[in-house]
Amino acid sequence: MTGIVIAIDGPAGTGKSTVSREVARRLGLSYFDTGATYRIATLTCLREGVDLTATSDVAAMVETMNVELVLDPGNPHFLLDGEDVSKLIRSDTVALSVSKVATNLEARPILQQMQRDTIAHEVEGGFSKGAGVCAEGRDVTTAIAPEADVRVLLTADEEVRVARRAGEGADAATVREAVLGRDRQDSTVSSFHEAADGVVTIDTTALTIDEVVSAILDLAEASRS
Ligand code: C5P
Repeated sequence: MTGIVIAIDGPAGTGKSTVSREVARRLGLSYFDTGATYRIATLTCLREGVDLTATSDVAAMVETMNVELVLDPGNPHFLLDGEDVSKLIRSDTVALSVSKVATNLEARPILQQMQRDTIAHEVEGGFSKGAGVCAEGRDVTTAIAPEADVRVLLTADEEVRVARRAGEGADAATVREAVLGRDRQDSTVSSFHEAADGVVTIDTTALTIDEVVSAILDLAEASRS
């Protein structure tokens, strides 16, 4: 039996990363935050002075960047040319620019292929030694791993999503723009507010992280029986 693939999509503020990481930890899987690949690409372009509106220049940079993904749910981190950039990619500067890379139709397929290759690698071996992977993002259930064993879309009311992110520290206007503005831009290339066929929707508005994790663990168990 090959490793399990659990795909979790949803907009910002649904608890997606916390839940996905915990699901991976509980099942001994790799944890793959696909959004990090877009963030690393954005950081690379900002550092190298590549104009984010120059479609082909961004794609060329993405094609050649040297990234290592460490998919440990206990300590997920990302190396760019050997440097740990895990914190830097969470900066407001990257958050406010990342949709420009994610909606770049030359760069996006390159990153999507990197994500498919990463998942295939984890199912065969990799960090999880073949146990499998829990991957989260915007289009994992649809474009990246449509054949995943478990496919889940997390949703939550808009105000709850903004409030959850605001609780993480930044000022209110930045948070609102980072959450809702980014959703609007991202929606042009992937649809993550409505579940595709066969994808289970979990509305997290009134649920705790533990309740969402349990629901996904149940789905994972059912998929293997
Ligand atoms: O999930 P996170 O907020 O880190 O994602 C950062 C950005 O990466 C998103 O706003 C979106 O632009 C892009 N993204 C995407 N497709 C994915 C994951 C993330 O377009 N599967």
